[in-house]
Amino acid sequence: MYDYDLLVVGSANADLVVGVERRPAAGETVLGSDLTVHPGGKGANQAVAAARLGARTALLARVGDDANGRMLLDSQRAAGVDTVGVLVGGVPTGVALITVDPSGDNSIVVSPGANARLTPPDVRVAASLFQASRVVSTQLEIPLETVMEVVRNLADGSRFVLNPSPPRPLPSELLAACDPLIVNEHEAKVILGESAVGDAPEGWARILLAKGPRSVVVTLGADGALVATAEGVTRIPSVKVDAVDTTGAGDAFTAALAWQLGAGASLTEAAAYAARVGAAAVTKPGAQESFPTAAEVEALCGAVPGNARRMPGGDDGSQRPAGESLRGESL
Ligand code: ADP
Repeated sequence: MYDYDLLVVGSANADLVVGVERRPAAGETVLGSDLTVHPGGKGANQAVAAARLGARTALLARVGDDANGRMLLDSQRAAGVDTVGVLVGGVPTGVALITVDPSGDNSIVVSPGANARLTPPDVRVAASLFQASRVVSTQLEIPLETVMEVVRNLADGSRFVLNPSPPRPLPSELLAACDPLIVNEHEAKVILGESAVGDAPEGWARILLAKGPRSVVVTLGADGALVATAEGVTRIPSVKVDAVDTTGAGDAFTAALAWQLGAGASLTEAAAYAARVGAAAVTKPGAQESFPTAAEVEALCGAVPGNARRMPGGDDGSQRPAGESLRGESL
């Protein structure tokens, strides 16, 4: 009954990538490799990642009427994303300047361009997309007031997923809509304050949950992820791989998790699948180019160390019927 498994509302950027021996410190200049240009932006990345896995996906975004905008539309369509919601023109397409070091770690500066002009009225005009979408996913590379308008336009029964990146303090109305809020340690420090984020992610995942989200997922890079719900905290093991480039791993993880939730998986199951997708994504260079198909994720399964491990005294909520936490409508 839904036309789309996932509607992604977010940014679309041209990623300008340079390889470096080490990423520059403040005030420092380093020489790098030849420049390469790739389609990116957290919204565009999530949409491509989901579509490549087989999700029926739509993107609501804004790009410029320029070569970078056309490149982004081409990459969305090539992955099978419905671009009916991509608005074109007015300002240049957003750009991300990315440096990647030999270990695969990256540093990123974003010039938002057209992403900053994706407005609340653009969300209201796309009401039919929201009615047609089982899960809606956003990030913070578009204006916060636009994200707030997304929350206010969710269809009854749809589920909202937020990766607050780049991070900023979040209004309680937005936190309360998240199911889940997906954060890494850096994002948690901005949302909670540095001093609240101790060594054990289980602790600050619980603190984050107490701020209002229905559920929280913490991504831990090569250490996997955590799922926190009112029932407890569950550790999601990582898949052991040789990381080549971590660009886009969080986007692939979020897209896979959002899609699996819409398909009826429990949050723990969805996060375990997303951890495989994130691991697959770091084995190849680039962002969208590195996102796996479902068959490639299956091929990684042999390396999965086991099912999600439950934390002492916690319950991961996996006994809940699939889709139970969706508002007002079973899937
Ligand atoms: P972000 O880019 O948002 O910080 P992460 O780097 O934590 O996100 O990556 C998202 C997910 O991808 C992780 O939770 C993990 O499951 C997977 N992942 C990332 N890096 C690795 C790695 N080196 N090895 C295995 N899995 C990884």
